[in-house]
Amino acid sequence: MGNCLKSPTADDISLLRGNDSQDGSEASSEPPPPYQESVHVPMYHPAPNISRPASQLTEEEQIRIAKRIGLIQHLPTGIYDGSKKIRECVICMGEFCVGDAVRYLPCMHIYHKECIDDWLMRSFTCPSCMEPVDAALLSTYET
Ligand SMILES: [Zn+2]
Ligand SMILES: [Zn+2]
Repeated sequence: MGNCLKSPTADDISLLRGNDSQDGSEASSEPPPPYQESVHVPMYHPAPNISRPASQLTEEEQIRIAKRIGLIQHLPTGIYDGSKKIRECVICMGEFCVGDAVRYLPCMHIYHKECIDDWLMRSFTCPSCMEPVDAALLSTYET
C-alpha cells in the first residue's frame, strides 16, 4: 500500500517526450492555410445539371459563382402581401400566400425567394419574360 511509483505526471512527461522526438510534429499541428472565404454556400452550380461542392470548383468558376451570388443578393426581397398582380410563382407553379418570402426581379416579376434563388444559380434570366437579370442589374449599377 502507498507504493505508488507510477504517477500520472511521469506518464504525461514520457508521452510528451515521445511526441517531441518524432520528426516534424510542429509543422503538422499548424492550422490549414486560409482558403477563399468570400461565400459560404454548400453546393454550387457552375453549369446547368452540374452540382459540385466548392472544393471541386476551378478558380474561374468560383469567381463567377461568387459574382452571381453577389448579384442575387442585390435583388430586393420582400414579404408577399397579396396586393401584387402576380399571384403565382411560375417556377414551382404555386400560388403565393400572404407572408411568403419573395424576391423581385428588375423586370418586376416576383417569385418565391427560394425558387428564384435556386433558378438564378442555373440560369440568370427571368423565367417569365427571359430578360437577363444581370444586364438589368449592371445598368442600375452604372447609373
Ligand atoms: Zn415558387
Ligand atoms: Zn420577368
